[in-house]
Amino acid sequence: MHGIALVVILTLAYTVFAARASIASTKTELDKRSSPLRDSALQAHFSRMADALELPTIPVNIYDVDQVNGLAAPDGRIFITRGFYQKFRSGAFSADELASVVAHELGHVALGHSKRRMISFGVAQAMQTGGALVLSRFVPFVGPMIVGAVASMLTARLSRTDEYEADEYATALLIKSGIGTAGQKTLFHKLDRMTAAHGSGPPAWLRSHPPSEDRIAAIEANEERWGTT
Ligand SMILES: [Zn+2]
Repeated sequence: MHGIALVVILTLAYTVFAARASIASTKTELDKRSSPLRDSALQAHFSRMADALELPTIPVNIYDVDQVNGLAAPDGRIFITRGFYQKFRSGAFSADELASVVAHELGHVALGHSKRRMISFGVAQAMQTGGALVLSRFVPFVGPMIVGAVASMLTARLSRTDEYEADEYATALLIKSGIGTAGQKTLFHKLDRMTAAHGSGPPAWLRSHPPSEDRIAAIEANEERWGTT
């Protein structure tokens, strides 16, 4: 029994260490390859969202990579990739659509998702190592597989919940700031079309998120519930 307790404690300690290290390296990478986004066409949208949140400004940064993605760093900063921004500049995405991505990432920050995600990742990790060790004594081979499947199902479920919550936050913010939700929905259609055209898997922003149709349906259900349609 002591052996197992020790394994669990060591796993937890390792997980905390690994999470901290990955936050530190993410921060270094983002610091090195990002700069403040300054765009007069987008600034009006950001200002309207800032007003709705009673904030002086919403600082958005450009992360200098080609992929199409938006992210919220663990320290709360919001990033749009250069690939995404360039598609906006070329007219592939509207200011409303880009604003909806920023609103979604603001949701992740406001709702404390990056911290919660770290914790759930740590728990899953510990469950996997500790649980597998215990179970493998009784159910060789299959036991650890079961624990692994349960752990990854739990984290997947949590991150899906986060996505819907961030979408809901974004919908409310977009309505309150007068931008509206049309862009939030057309964005999904466009990203889906990009996926079909490329045939090389969905853009990064979609890969980590639930299916677009489900997200659009959830947005519309919220609007109906709030009586804003
Ligand atoms: Zn998200």
